[in-house]
Amino acid sequence: LLALKDIHKSFASAEGPVAVLQGVSLAVQAGEVVALTGESGSGKSTLLHIAAGLEPVDAGQVLFGTQDMAALPDAGRAQLRRGTVGLVFQQFNLVPSLSVGANLAFQARLAGKHDAAFCTDLAARLGLADLLSRYPEQLSGGQQQRVAIGRALAARPEVLLADEPTGNLDEATGDAVFALMLELARAQGTGLLLVTHSARLAGQCDHAIHLRNGRLA
Ligand code: ATP
Ligand code: MG
Repeated sequence: LLALKDIHKSFASAEGPVAVLQGVSLAVQAGEVVALTGESGSGKSTLLHIAAGLEPVDAGQVLFGTQDMAALPDAGRAQLRRGTVGLVFQQFNLVPSLSVGANLAFQARLAGKHDAAFCTDLAARLGLADLLSRYPEQLSGGQQQRVAIGRALAARPEVLLADEPTGNLDEATGDAVFALMLELARAQGTGLLLVTHSARLAGQCDHAIHLRNGRLA
């Protein structure tokens, strides 16, 4: 479904380029749940942004089937992302001018997969049913995080990339949200790549991969 091949990525700094990813390869199959761990600053978010086509690579391929996201022009990347990829950002990136309900529907509409009944059910299962007319700034961090997850799930992407999706939730809520993501991924055949600092949650995934010194261990 998704295959990253030999990804290299450096960022410029005052001291010259800093290599963050130095030949990272991984694959996520349909219905497979992969946990990505690694210490702070190891490049997990960078890797997710690359997989979503939001960050250019220095070298390597980002393959969705036979299409290489990294080799597409901007418009082609945006189109492939809209139809295929869901991303739960570490910092949520909700649309501030849209209500919770509209945030949930937004991505699904862009992807041409909006289904009002599915959205309503999703909102209820994420504990958002009473918050649908609120705006992101009127929500707690954990509530915003659940909206970010709902927005990505509502579009039923082929591949869901989630950056510490339960990092702002208490343990019980985090476990419930994690279970929901797993259930939907398995039911819909979604490939799920999930950054987590929790060894317990990583242990419930099909595979766990660890990023260290720019490489996967
Ligand atoms: P955390 O667990 O804290 O979220 P992370 O594993 O997600 O960390 P990244 O955000 O991917 O780490 O960052 C990896 C490295 O790349 C860090 O050293 C960071 O400072 C650097 N970095 C990330 N984005 C940029 C950027 N746009 N410009 C320069 N350096 C960057
Ligand atoms: Mg990060």
